[in-house]
Amino acid sequence: MTAPTYHLTSYGCQMNKLDSELVESRLRQRGYEPAADEASANVVLLNTCSVRQHAEDRVWSRLGKLRIRKRAEPALVVGVLGCMAEEHKRFMVARMPHVDLVVGPSAFGDIDVTVENARHKNLELAKVHDPSAGKHAVAGAGLVAAGIGVSGDTIVRDVKVRPHKSQAFVSVMRGCNMPCTYCIVPTTRGDEVSRPIDAIVEEAARLCGDGVTEITLLGQTVNAYGRDLGPGITLAKLLRALHEIPSLRRLAFITSHPNFLSEDLIAAMAELPKVARYLHLPVQSGSDRVLKAMRRGYTRERYLRRVEQLLAKAPDIELHSDFIVGYPSETAAEFDESASLMLQVGYAQSYVFQYSPRPGTVAAGLVDDVSKAEKERRNQVLLTIQDSLCVQKNNALVGTTQEVLVEGESPKDATRLSGRTVHHRIVHFDRPQDGGLDLVGRYVPVRIEQAMAHSLVGKRLAENEAEHGRGDREEPESARHAHDLDHPRHDGTRPHRAATT
Ligand code: SF4
Repeated sequence: MTAPTYHLTSYGCQMNKLDSELVESRLRQRGYEPAADEASANVVLLNTCSVRQHAEDRVWSRLGKLRIRKRAEPALVVGVLGCMAEEHKRFMVARMPHVDLVVGPSAFGDIDVTVENARHKNLELAKVHDPSAGKHAVAGAGLVAAGIGVSGDTIVRDVKVRPHKSQAFVSVMRGCNMPCTYCIVPTTRGDEVSRPIDAIVEEAARLCGDGVTEITLLGQTVNAYGRDLGPGITLAKLLRALHEIPSLRRLAFITSHPNFLSEDLIAAMAELPKVARYLHLPVQSGSDRVLKAMRRGYTRERYLRRVEQLLAKAPDIELHSDFIVGYPSETAAEFDESASLMLQVGYAQSYVFQYSPRPGTVAAGLVDDVSKAEKERRNQVLLTIQDSLCVQKNNALVGTTQEVLVEGESPKDATRLSGRTVHHRIVHFDRPQDGGLDLVGRYVPVRIEQAMAHSLVGKRLAENEAEHGRGDREEPESARHAHDLDHPRHDGTRPHRAATT
């Protein structure tokens, strides 16, 4: 008998990508196989994101197209997973009869059963399908599992289901307890729930046993890890436990909240050589009044003090951030404080978001009074500053040798391979004549020859040509000064990851 097939599209953040891996694991364990493309799949799943309106709009458009297909193929299973499933479940159930599954993030643990039930039900419906019934023939199984069930973290992960053989995400906590006024995540993802250290270490060790050498720990507020597990359970403790896995070489974590950048976490980052040398620490605004309005729980000064404490102990760490421009009532002068903070910290990367109200949040009740044009202007100002910061920081790396974890063919140039440094910078280098695919997943030394705003270009060195094994831990003095808060640098941005913390 032919195995049923699925096609899964992921939108949004890294947590969603990991959730998609877990869902795929579960489906494969149940005997499903990935389809060659969406058009040939028996089951089409969209793992959705609610953080930005744009991401939601793309899903609504996809669902419109799937409605047409469902008329011709009543056995097709259409599923909406993730945050939009949680946020819009009532609307979907009432108004989108061609959607068979609406499954929130907290119900992924038994997704295979839910999909299987819908598929059998649809196969029965297809037997009595009357094409002449027109649009009324599209009613699906109508199964809903939003907000109930067991989390995807209970899935015994198939360590072979992942996009990169040497890299993996591992969820360490779900949900968020913070009160940020603009953010829908606490509604869609629920309260913080941390996984036990033993379970995380066990999963990481299995991944490393299957060839993973770089692990990125995920949590909405990852550095709040363990608060719900009891005293002494912290991200620092978890990092130290994972650091013991012999074949693990890089250990990163996203996304951190400034309030939980504790002394013990700073000490762990300073002491553990496998911990990646960047920290995504979204500030969102440089204005105290706006930070208070957003209920971020810190002031500009307090944020800067934390950054200073970190860099005093671990000066080779680079800071990444997120900014929101055009929050309700943000004045031009308050926006200027964001711009000055960006310069003062000298971020290596920043994501800049134009504020848009998310229904169900506190801020959605405020007047969205900064015009679209002004939001666009503020956005461009920050991007220009960040680009200049990136250029200067990247220029300082020309002539250095960087250790690059090779990820594959460069997305825009098939004659090159690309990978990332321990600072998460993208490096491109020429492919060897044999194509170099055996290099994917390996760490190679690359001499940096050219700097651009969002990436570096270099020449791969033979192992014995490399001056040192972990080149970019040994940046030139000029690059290290990038972190001196009193001597802000200009560098640019490469879009990092959608994040909200
Ligand atoms: S922005 Fe981050 S910390 Fe704030 S509520 Fe959203 S997920 Fe939580």
